[in-house]
Amino acid sequence: MTHIITSLCVRDRGCIEVCPVECIIPGNPVNEFPLVYIDPDTCIDCGACVPECPYSAIFPEDEVPSAYTAKGGEYINKLGLTGHFEGTNHHGKPIVLETTRQLTAGEVVDLTPDTQLNYDFFKSGPGYSAKDSDTGM
Ligand code: SF4
Ligand code: SF4
Repeated sequence: MTHIITSLCVRDRGCIEVCPVECIIPGNPVNEFPLVYIDPDTCIDCGACVPECPYSAIFPEDEVPSAYTAKGGEYINKLGLTGHFEGTNHHGKPIVLETTRQLTAGEVVDLTPDTQLNYDFFKSGPGYSAKDSDTGM
C-alpha cells in the first residue's frame, strides 16, 4: 500500500523532507500538476509525512475519504478550478496557485479521485523528473 496526497494539498512542502525514502515529489509545471505526489512503488507506508502536513492532506490509500466534510475555509487544489491561493510554504517561500477553490463549512467532497492522480503522476506523468524543474514553490 501507499499513502496518498489529496487535493487538500496546497504545496506547503512540510512533508517532503521527513520522508525516509524521498518519494514525495512536487508536481511541475504547477499549472499541469498542482499537487505534491507520493510514488506508490517506493512509499513504505511509515506515516511520517501525515503529521507534518498542516492541511491534513495525506491519508493511507485505503482511508482516502470519499465524503470529506469541510471544516470551512480550507482549499481544494485541482485542475479545472480557477480560484487564486496565496500563502507561504514550510521554507518561507511564497506559494501562488490558480487552481483552487475554498470550501464552505459542511460541504462534502470526494477525495478518492486523487489516488489515481498520484499513480498517474509517476506512471504517465513527469514523476521524479519533475525535480529537475523544481522552483521551490
Ligand atoms: S505538507 Fe501537506 S500541503 Fe504541504 S506539500 Fe505535503 S501534503 Fe501538500
Ligand atoms: S508514508 Fe512514509 S514513505 Fe510514504 S510518503 Fe509518507 S513519509 Fe514517505
